[in-house]
Amino acid sequence: MKTLSLVVPCYNEEETIPLFYQTVSKVIDKMNTPTPTVTPEYIFVDDGSSDNTLAEMKTLHQANPETVHYRSFSRNFGKESALAAGLQATTGDLVAVMDVDLQDPPELLPKMFALIENDGYDCVGTIQKERRGQSKLRAFLSSSFYRVINRISDVRIEPNARDYRLMTRQFVNTVLDLPEFNRFSKGIFSWVGYKTTYLTYESQPRAAGKTHWSLGQLFSYSIEGIIDFSNAPLRLATWVGSFSFFLSIIGLIFVIVRALTVGGSVAGWPSLVVIMLLIGGIQLFCLGILGQYINKIYLETKHRPKYIVREEK
Ligand code: UDP
Ligand code: MG
Repeated sequence: MKTLSLVVPCYNEEETIPLFYQTVSKVIDKMNTPTPTVTPEYIFVDDGSSDNTLAEMKTLHQANPETVHYRSFSRNFGKESALAAGLQATTGDLVAVMDVDLQDPPELLPKMFALIENDGYDCVGTIQKERRGQSKLRAFLSSSFYRVINRISDVRIEPNARDYRLMTRQFVNTVLDLPEFNRFSKGIFSWVGYKTTYLTYESQPRAAGKTHWSLGQLFSYSIEGIIDFSNAPLRLATWVGSFSFFLSIIGLIFVIVRALTVGGSVAGWPSLVVIMLLIGGIQLFCLGILGQYINKIYLETKHRPKYIVREEK
C-alpha cells in the first residue's frame, strides 16, 4: 500500500470542498478495487478565506480524522504559499497537487499513478487544451507569455501546464529544499529536473464559485515568473543603456563639430528636447528593471516566512 497525499489550496471555496472530496474519494475507491493500492491523505490549505471554507474542512476532518487534514493561514498569502504549506505537511510516498474546483480532473489520477509506478517517472504534470470560455485576449496574452519566458529563461516552462501534478517523495523533498521566498512553482518544478512527463486534457468548467485571477493579476504573475527565472531583462537594460549612450556620444560630437565650423544656432531645440526625453525614458526604464530585481533581493534577505499557519490538524 502506498500513501497518496493530495495537496488542495482553497481560497473562499465553501461550495466546492464537499464536492471535491466526494468526487476524489470515488476515484480513489476505484483505484482500490479489486486490490487495495493507495491510502489517501488529504491536506486542505485554507488560504485565509473569509467564507465557511475552514468550517467545511473541519467537518471533513471530523468525519475522517485519519485521512483528512487541514492548515489554515492567518491571512491570504496566495496560491504559491498555500502549495508550499501543503507540500510541507505531506507524508505520502506520492504527492498530488490539485485545485479544489474540479478543473483538474481527478479521473487522471490512476493514469498518473501508473506512469510513476510502472514507467519510472518522478513527476507527471498536466497540460490543459484550449480553455473553453476563455477570451481571445487572454489566450493571446498567455501564449505570448510562454513564448517570451521560454526564449529568455534557463528553465523550460511547459505552455499551458497546470499546477495539477503527481510527484514522488524524492521530487517533493527536493522542491521543499529550495529556500526561496519568491516561489514561481511552474519554474521551480521544472528547475529541479528529474524525469517528468505530461498528460493533456480538455479544459473543464469550474464546479462552482468563480476564478480568483483577474487579467491584472495574471500579468503581474507573468512578470514575477520572468524576473524569478531569467536575467534577460537586466541584459536588455544594459544593452538599451549602452546603445543610447553610444547614440548620445555621436550626437555630442556632431554638435561640437558644428559649433566649431558653422557656429551654433537655437534652431533645433525641439529635437534636443525629444532626445532628452528619450534618454530620460530609457534611463527610467532601466532603473525600473533594476528595481524589480532589487525588490526581489530585498524580500529574500528579510527571511520572512512564506505563510503563517493559524490553526491546523
Ligand atoms: N487559490 C488559493 N489562493 C488564492 C487564489 C486561489 O489557494 O489566493 C486556490 C483556489 O481556491 C483554487 C486554486 O487556487 O483551488 C486555483 O484558483 P482558481 O480556480 O481561481 O484559478 P484558475 O483555475 O481560474 O486558474
Ligand atoms: Mg480554477
